[in-house]
Amino acid sequence: PLPTALAAARPSSGAGDQPEAEGSSRATAMLRHLLLKLRATGPVTVAEYMREALTNPGQGYYVRRGGIGESGDFVTSPEISQVFGELIGIWYISEWIAMGKPKAFQLVELGPGRGTLTDDILRVFNQLSSLLSKCDVSIHLVEVSPKLSEIQALMLTGGKVQSIPEDKSAYMKGISKSGIPIFWYRDIQDVPPGYSFYLAHEFFDALPIHKFQRTEKGWREVLVDIDPEVPDQLRFVLSPSSTPATQNFIQPEETRDHVEVCPEAGVIIQRLACRIEKDGGAALVADYGHDGTKTDTFRGFRNHRLHDVLRAPGTADLTADVDFSYLRKMTQGRTATLGPIKQWEFLKNMGIDLRLQVLLQNSRDPATHEQLLRSYDMLMNPKKMGDCFNFFALLPHQRLAHPDKNHKPESKSPLPPVAGFGELLLK
Ligand code: SAH
Repeated sequence: PLPTALAAARPSSGAGDQPEAEGSSRATAMLRHLLLKLRATGPVTVAEYMREALTNPGQGYYVRRGGIGESGDFVTSPEISQVFGELIGIWYISEWIAMGKPKAFQLVELGPGRGTLTDDILRVFNQLSSLLSKCDVSIHLVEVSPKLSEIQALMLTGGKVQSIPEDKSAYMKGISKSGIPIFWYRDIQDVPPGYSFYLAHEFFDALPIHKFQRTEKGWREVLVDIDPEVPDQLRFVLSPSSTPATQNFIQPEETRDHVEVCPEAGVIIQRLACRIEKDGGAALVADYGHDGTKTDTFRGFRNHRLHDVLRAPGTADLTADVDFSYLRKMTQGRTATLGPIKQWEFLKNMGIDLRLQVLLQNSRDPATHEQLLRSYDMLMNPKKMGDCFNFFALLPHQRLAHPDKNHKPESKSPLPPVAGFGELLLK
């Protein structure tokens, strides 16, 4: 999420998304719940706090508010420009071709938000339907928020969905506007095995992090506690001794004094890597982040402004930069990885300039032109989203390894370069 992105949002992105009136009753309901918990059991880890604030089944931010879009709390790249999702759709098609056009694939999106990204991807699949006609495509969405899954269902199927009784792995199913089956799950483990393309856009940054600080007595975990000075207010404290998390998550060679670790991201990447190793496919992860260098990135967003993470939990989006070096490590060598590379570079390699030219030529409306140019700038400008967002991919080792070890450099490689991470070669 970027607070400044508001001005460039797609004209339609706010429609139908009325964040509930910010009743103080709900803010206090989450806070009351946390205060009770803290009084009963003592301070909690930042990860526990973040999990409660974001995905508590009753009062969590994504469950109740989920404010993506112009009228919400933050806006994301797919909500800014249709071109973003179209180029990602082309990335999957290009990988599908490079991998020998398997007969079927699942597109699995983690945390689909309003469903805009998948909608844009499905439009590309539909435009290339002659290419995909013999391929059995299905969509699998991993979403914990009932509120957002409703919005996704409306966006992708026009609302024609069916709930599935609790005992099945998928909790909802439907058919896309172009006739492709869509299933909803709460957990990646519920998605059936099979050749799959995975997508996680601004998903990993929403997963709970642990925070640690180096002290004279060694590493200590940052915890959330009740402020004894101010009634009903939360504060950060340091654990008096080391916690299990300190022992498990801090590397002996660590040089930073403040460290954030997201074990849940590690577990999910491990699952993706196992699945890709076993059944084939690829994963594309796009998020803001760093390569194991940043220290304090935990922050909140509300109404497109930075928001104190400890204030009014449940009413603001909480987020932390993704540590790509940690994700790479957690693949445990099961897959190859590419990136992270900067968003502007990835989109440039995917042909965003050409796509922009086509869209500009297709319209004579000055307002449309202005919107196209403004959203291009938002996605590409290094000072806006161009530099801070990164693309990172998991691919089967065979996809990158050169089968002929003695090949001459000038001989034609049988494996095309991976689009986005190098220039896109059409055919
Ligand atoms: N990808 C979208 C939305 C990003 S917001 C976009 O770029 O616009 C984060 C999304 O992840 C939301 O859909 C939220 O409900 C979902 N989410 C957060 N934590 C989750 C979890 N633990 N499991 C599944 N989905 C989660």
